[in-house]
Amino acid sequence: MNNDNINMANANNNNTNVDNTTYDENVSSIHEFDFSLICEYFSSISRQGPGSDESTQRALSMIHDLGADSVIADLGCGCGSQTIQLALHTQAKVKALDLFPLFIDKLMARCRKAGVSDRVEAIEGDMCNLPFEKASLDVIWSEGAIYNIGFKRGITEWREYLKPDGWLAVSEASWLTDSRPSEIEDFWNEAYPEIDTIANKVQQLHDAGYRDIRTFVLPTECWTDNFYQPQKEAQRLFLERYPDNKTAAELVANQRHEAELYSRYSDYYGYVFYVARRS
Ligand code: SAH
Repeated sequence: MNNDNINMANANNNNTNVDNTTYDENVSSIHEFDFSLICEYFSSISRQGPGSDESTQRALSMIHDLGADSVIADLGCGCGSQTIQLALHTQAKVKALDLFPLFIDKLMARCRKAGVSDRVEAIEGDMCNLPFEKASLDVIWSEGAIYNIGFKRGITEWREYLKPDGWLAVSEASWLTDSRPSEIEDFWNEAYPEIDTIANKVQQLHDAGYRDIRTFVLPTECWTDNFYQPQKEAQRLFLERYPDNKTAAELVANQRHEAELYSRYSDYYGYVFYVARRS
């Protein structure tokens, strides 16, 4: 979801542009329709990015000293697959924040079903302008979402909101080798130029004021079984629902292209979890 011409980040940008072009109602309505269509597509699948319950739990196992008074902020929570894991496997309060109300609604329904809604607060908000007190959070969590603010900006700005010794846990697109075929290099440099090697991301975390940095690569099934496979049926239904719709067709084509690239180049890139402490 983070490496297409049409994705949630661009949907947001389009929306922002629309707000700035207030005089053209026609353009505005087209963009708003596109935007809600893209949200609808991604809300029809339970994950909006690669991940798994096991990976969330593995990253969580690297974090200690959380109790009932602890606060975890889950930024770019989407429909909340990881939010539910955080609530199930800690005693902490979880503040789950996303820009899009459709995702928030789905998240809260899932939390009620999982029996954790009393400890999850859903917030419609912007990760670029966090609605929290500085130095108030024990953990900042963000799976497959920090790219929306950009890795370096995110780790720098979010650090201010962590308590001293607070924890950061983010998953981020990373190169797994020092060199790679030009097709995949070009694709990512266009989609998310901040993609970098694990060593460079660790250095960036260190330079931004984090210590005890640990990393692991998400297994391939986080992409295949948990992200691309469920989209196949979602794509069929979506195209059936919106035949002859250009945005729908482009969105599905982009997602299929992304899945196809992953099937060919998964040796070269992946999502990496970075867990670190505020120095
Ligand atoms: N963590 C979820 C969703 C990842 S997709 C998962 O792994 O399944 C990225 C999410 O970031 C989307 O839900 C998108 O709506 C959200 N997002 C995009 N820009 C945002 C912003 N500026 N502030 C908050 N959330 C944002």
